[in-house]
Amino acid sequence: MSAIGDRVSPEIHALNPYQPGKPIEELQRELGLPRVVKLASNEYPEGPFPEVLEALSREMAILNRYPDPTWFELGTAMASHQGLKREELLFGNGANEILELLLHVFTEPKDEVVYANPSFPIYRLLTQSHRAQGVPVPLDENHVHDLEAMAAAITSRTRLVFVCNPNNPTGTYVTAEAMAAFMAKVPADVVVVLDEAYFEFVTAKDFPSYHTLRKTYPNLVCLRSMSKAYSLAGLRVGYAMGSVEVIQLLQRVRQPFNVNRLAQVAAVAALAQRERTAERRVVTRRRVDHLGEKLVELGCKVVPSQTNFLLVFAPERSLGLFDRLLREGVIVRPMHHFGLDEGSFRVNVGTEDENEFFLNALSRVLAVSDTV
Ligand SMILES: *Cc1c(COP(=O)(O)O)cnc(C)c1O
Repeated sequence: MSAIGDRVSPEIHALNPYQPGKPIEELQRELGLPRVVKLASNEYPEGPFPEVLEALSREMAILNRYPDPTWFELGTAMASHQGLKREELLFGNGANEILELLLHVFTEPKDEVVYANPSFPIYRLLTQSHRAQGVPVPLDENHVHDLEAMAAAITSRTRLVFVCNPNNPTGTYVTAEAMAAFMAKVPADVVVVLDEAYFEFVTAKDFPSYHTLRKTYPNLVCLRSMSKAYSLAGLRVGYAMGSVEVIQLLQRVRQPFNVNRLAQVAAVAALAQRERTAERRVVTRRRVDHLGEKLVELGCKVVPSQTNFLLVFAPERSLGLFDRLLREGVIVRPMHHFGLDEGSFRVNVGTEDENEFFLNALSRVLAVSDTV
């Protein structure tokens, strides 16, 4: 190792960079396939609302100007949308940036961060890169957060707890009752982050309400993303709702121009489309249910999901399933590196046509693996 490398902490050297879903263009280049369908990053299959595209084209001409560092328009629109004060909101370059700010503000080296396993891998990555100590708590037998075990894992060194709800990569959720019981056990100086990146897709009636919990728990932060239901993954905008105290602390460490001009105007325009967004919940529910039924017909096990994706366990002898789907032009997310079975993968719903393409590819792949 060079003199520079020697100076870097073992935690940084031990980091395995985040593995994003394979880009469509890369697969097309590698295999020369006529059609590639990507169902690997939980993106919304249709593009942004037309009103968003109009707002974006108006904004293009003034990209020589820095964005609003106070996110005034977006903050005002979101405050009214959520029934909160602007001071209770913080925007980020994707919810991912806010996760980083949370680690930055609330942890020092060796502090403990509790999260579920498997859950969003970024919690572990950020914990490690901030030299804090990750405390992964296994999901229960139904792939749901084991909130009792997570509460029991909290020590005097715990600074942060991540509850991914619904959980990525399982699509499962904790109920309002379980979340309330959990919060009652968490010490007041531990920040609980409720990551609701898939909130707009949720249909369960007993899903927890941040707006109810926040009245009792100023140590609760709720994260949302515009990347999923609002089709803005490529622009990067997410937000946090929290107590004024917590938001002010996060404000101290963020970059002044952290949300770009296009992202701010797109988010405002997208947020105004309330009915269309509600429609997306219905459409996504229908697509997920349909895809789940077809996967079961193909002999797969499917975990019930409150999101736009499914965790799937293919029948036995499905080794190499991911690579064989790639050769069919379908990108899903293999899950074995999450500690799940070889034949497990996460797939998000595409358009009806893309789902059909995927199901046909999968049935060909499974038919072959049955004969080997
Ligand atoms: C997609 C996702 C996010 C955030 O994504 P951004 O694109 O950074 O807003 C956060 N948490 C989970 C669990 C996600 O799946």
